[in-house]
Amino acid sequence: MESFIEWRWYILSLIAFVLGWLLAKRKSKKTRRQLRFSSDYFQGLNYLLNDEQDKAIEIFLRLVESDWQTIDTHLTLGSIFRRKGELDKAIKLHQSLLARPSLPSEYKVRVLLELGRDYQLAGWLDRAEGLFNDVLKDSDYTEEALRHLMDIYQQEQEWGSAITVAKRYQRAANNSLKPVIAQFHCELSDKEFSRGDLKESEALAVQGLSIDENCVRASIILGKLAIQRGRYKRAIRFFKQIEFQNVVYMPLVISHLTECYRNQSNLKSLISYLRSLDEKYESISLIPVIVDLITEVYDRSSAIEYLSTRMKLKPSLDGVQKMLEINLSNVDTQESYIKEVVDQLMHDQSGYQCSHCGYSAKSLYWLCPSCHTWSGMKPKRL
Ligand SMILES: [Zn+2]
Repeated sequence: MESFIEWRWYILSLIAFVLGWLLAKRKSKKTRRQLRFSSDYFQGLNYLLNDEQDKAIEIFLRLVESDWQTIDTHLTLGSIFRRKGELDKAIKLHQSLLARPSLPSEYKVRVLLELGRDYQLAGWLDRAEGLFNDVLKDSDYTEEALRHLMDIYQQEQEWGSAITVAKRYQRAANNSLKPVIAQFHCELSDKEFSRGDLKESEALAVQGLSIDENCVRASIILGKLAIQRGRYKRAIRFFKQIEFQNVVYMPLVISHLTECYRNQSNLKSLISYLRSLDEKYESISLIPVIVDLITEVYDRSSAIEYLSTRMKLKPSLDGVQKMLEINLSNVDTQESYIKEVVDQLMHDQSGYQCSHCGYSAKSLYWLCPSCHTWSGMKPKRL
C-alpha cells in the first residue's frame, strides 16, 4: 500500500513536471520546434518511468540548453529526486546544469542553491557551506542562503558561527530570531559549563537572557550556577523568573528551588509560593511536591487534608498517584492493584512533548529532535 502511494505520488509529480514545462512552452510561437521538443520531452519522461534516470537527465539537459527559460521545470525535477531521497540523481542533474558553459548567470545562483540543498541533505556539510557562502553574494537569495547556513552550523553544533549567521539573517530579513540566538548562547554556555569554566558559562547565559528576556533555559543555567556558588537568594530570583517567562517549565526547577529554600531553612515560604502558583495556573500541577513538603514541614494529616481539598478542585493523574501513595499504610489488594495501574499510566504518559510536531520523549530537548524547533518541547501536564 505504501509503495503504491509512493508510486502514485511519483507519477503525480512527473505530471506536474510536464505541465510546468508545457506552460513554460506556451509562450513560444515556434510550433514545429515545439512539437519536436514535445516528443523529446515525452521520451525523457518515458526513461524516467522506466527507471532509466541517467538517459532521462541527458535528454532534459540537452533540451534546457536550447531554451534556458524552461529551467524551472528542470529544477522541479531536481527537487522531485531530492524529496524521493534519490540524492545522487539530484546532485548529478544540478552539477550537470552548472557545468553547462551556456548557463546564464541569472540562473546560476538558483542552481547553486539547489545543489547546496542536495549536499546538505546528503550530509556533505562542508560542500554545502561553500555553495551557500557563494550564494550570499547575490542579494536576491541572501536570506535563503543564510537560513541554510544557520541550519548547517546548528547541525554541526558550531554555535559561534550560528550566532553570526543568525544575526545577519535578522538584519537581511528584518525578522526577529532573538529566542533562537538566545538558545545558541545557552548551547555555548552549557559547553563551557561542562568544561568547568563557570565564569564564561555565566557570561554567555547572561548574554542569552539579555537577547531574549523570556529565555527559560538561560534562567535555569544562571539559577544552577548561583546554587553552585552558594548564592541561594540569587538562584531563587532566577528560578522565580520562569513564572513570567513560561510557567509550564516551572516544574523543571522545583527540586532546585527546594534545595535553595532548604538551605535557607525557609521551606514554609516555599510551600506558600508553590501553593499560589498551583492555584493561579491551570497548565501546571504542583500538588504532589506540595503534599511532600507539607508532610515534611507540618504533618501527614495536614498533607492529606490539603490533597483531598485540592484534588476536588484540580484533579490530576499525579495527584491520584500521590493519594494512593499517602494511603499506602492501610492498603488492601485492590488498592494496591489500582496503584500499579496509576504508576504505569504515569510512567507511560510522563515526559515531554513538542507543541509543534507532537514528538514525545522522556527527557527534555531544547531543540526538538523531530521538527528542529527550539523550545518546542514542554513538560506534559498529567
Ligand atoms: Zn517538534
